[in-house]
Amino acid sequence: MIVNPLNPNPRAPEVHVVHGADAYANTMASLKGIDLSALKGAKVLLKPNVGRMSKAGTGVNTNPQVVAAAVDAFRKAGATVAIGESPITGVNTLEAFELSGMSAMAKEKSCPLIDMDERKPVITPVPNGRVIDSLKICADVFDFDYIVSIPVMKIHMHTGVTLGVKNMKGCLWRRSKVDLHMLPHLDDTADKSLDIAIGDMATVLRPHFTIIDGSIGLEGLGPGAGTPKELNVVVAGADAFAADAVACRLMGRTANEVSHLRNGAANGCGVIDLDRIKVYPENWQNYASDFQAAPKNLSFEFPDVEVLDKNSCSACQSTLLLFLQRFGESLADYIPNGEPLKVAIGKGHETLPEGTLCIGQCTARHKEGGIFVPGCPPVGSQIFKTLQCHEQNGNSSEAMQ
Ligand code: SF4
Repeated sequence: MIVNPLNPNPRAPEVHVVHGADAYANTMASLKGIDLSALKGAKVLLKPNVGRMSKAGTGVNTNPQVVAAAVDAFRKAGATVAIGESPITGVNTLEAFELSGMSAMAKEKSCPLIDMDERKPVITPVPNGRVIDSLKICADVFDFDYIVSIPVMKIHMHTGVTLGVKNMKGCLWRRSKVDLHMLPHLDDTADKSLDIAIGDMATVLRPHFTIIDGSIGLEGLGPGAGTPKELNVVVAGADAFAADAVACRLMGRTANEVSHLRNGAANGCGVIDLDRIKVYPENWQNYASDFQAAPKNLSFEFPDVEVLDKNSCSACQSTLLLFLQRFGESLADYIPNGEPLKVAIGKGHETLPEGTLCIGQCTARHKEGGIFVPGCPPVGSQIFKTLQCHEQNGNSSEAMQ
């Protein structure tokens, strides 16, 4: 077992929960009981979740004040600190840092920001992976002695929740993150291959410390289009699985229900059994408040759209969600006769209604009678542009191919 000096007792890890109105003060207080002396002279990479174009306070990206406290606390312990991110496909890292308020905070603290998509990745073997055998990991990760995962507490439509363990997927290089969404299903399990892959990823890529920002989290249609949920907590611990298990309980679910956590724990990457985790303070469960789960059907959330999904992978589902989130309100102009716009994803469609918006390469065979957007997956702006072209060219399906 690799020894993490911040986690001296891996069989019974500690997790600290702090509740209060001030996210900076909560974070500082959550780190107070931790022995950070091992960080003296070390290089520490803070990995917040700044994966999407979203302003501070929306629950989509990590609160910069939580990261500010981490910068101060780890510097006080004698570490050199930087902040790095590789966002989702189609998002520019520096623009996301700017909009989220992370750039302003980093400037104030004179803390370097790293666009981890800039350098070539390091291909890293995953020797015991069940569904992956290697990962393209951002090269910057290897320049640091310690990685600190600082996610925001969110519901995730594909993985149940996204917390400290899942946040490390943002250390995978550029589009290689999407590869984990496109793995074939294993016959011998009900678990999604994406969840098994995150459990595999944790065997080679997991943080030395996790600080979960639950000041304003996200419920419902996470990770990008949910509803902000104010919980005013910070959860901190050296075992990311233990911290995630505590956060799950605060969100009204168990870590065992979250398949990537169950899979990673089964791989020996951490502890999710609350009976084995020392959580401080004793009354921490008083701060729990149920987070609403993601709806099973996107059409409930976007009534102007009828989603036809047959055998798609979660990459196209995410693309569709991002598209609807960003352009949903503009779709009224493209809806024929007040009927919901039919949108198809996935390779399982035998036939599709005339005029269906066909998203992704898997729907290519239906492009004749529909509005086809190539790509695997395409990005939201490309889908909207295709719809606009279709409208401008008098609904000729040829115009947009
Ligand atoms: S087109 Fe979409 S559903 Fe098909 S493999 Fe690509 S991302 Fe997945």
